[in-house]
Amino acid sequence: MRFTWDLEIGIWNFDSQPQNRNMSKNRKMHSAQMASLFDIVSYSDDFLRIRDVGDWDNALNGLQIENSGGVTRLGAAVDVSTRVLTEVAKKNIDLLIVHHGLFWAGLQPVRKSLRRQLQIAFENDIALYSAHLPLDIHPKIGNNAQLAAMLGLKSAQQNCRASAAADAKPFLEEKGQPVGLKIRASMPRAELVRKLRKALNSPVKVFDFGPKQTRSIGIVTGAAGSEIYRVAQENIDTFITGEAPHWAAVAAEELGMNLLLGGHYATEVFGVKALAAHLSKRFEIPWEFIDCPTGL
Ligand SMILES: [Zn+2]
Repeated sequence: MRFTWDLEIGIWNFDSQPQNRNMSKNRKMHSAQMASLFDIVSYSDDFLRIRDVGDWDNALNGLQIENSGGVTRLGAAVDVSTRVLTEVAKKNIDLLIVHHGLFWAGLQPVRKSLRRQLQIAFENDIALYSAHLPLDIHPKIGNNAQLAAMLGLKSAQQNCRASAAADAKPFLEEKGQPVGLKIRASMPRAELVRKLRKALNSPVKVFDFGPKQTRSIGIVTGAAGSEIYRVAQENIDTFITGEAPHWAAVAAEELGMNLLLGGHYATEVFGVKALAAHLSKRFEIPWEFIDCPTGL
């Protein structure tokens, strides 16, 4: 596996034939089970409703970087970065699935960090697929559904059928569709916090201004703390999200709500893992998670 930090410009070959520098990798690809990138992307686009789900323009959901067409190994990560791509290259992964893609910073010239990331991808024949809101809201493998299932609030296995303890429905309109899950569930707050810490395997910031026994729980993975007033309008007394601006803690007290912040990264590891596991089973290729926590 060859990748380099050298920024000397090579001549990029954009047709489907692998370059010489990838020959050793491609020899390996022929000896392993290989799936077609085109098939995986077509299937994932349909499965996640990539064309129908609204999102911020910079999410650029779907295939973001093409490779030479073969996939023998899948990787899943929350974010794409130089560090993640370097790990992906070392592990001979051909297709990386992420939640936060390469273009969040918007239109920018291909230089410095963007160039470096593209260079690692091209030199190692890595394809990149990104799914943001389509992966948050998917009823089975989505971040919200997976987290709810891990909290015992909903069974993702039962194809989004609420478990006996809970009545879950989508809520909180964003970009044309609901992006959260509202769950009617009575649970001691302390037990919910304990379960959340265990599910996320990370610390949870608790602003306990709501009832000690929950009645209605809202889950919006990622950074939805700034939506606390809209969430309160839904009669939710316990709001679980990843991160929040400072003023949201004050708002939680004013509104008499429990606000549980589990971390942006920690609340969004589930979707990419579940998608990679699903694709791995369907296309019979191995997958692994590249853990690269941001600290937020
Ligand atoms: Zn996010």
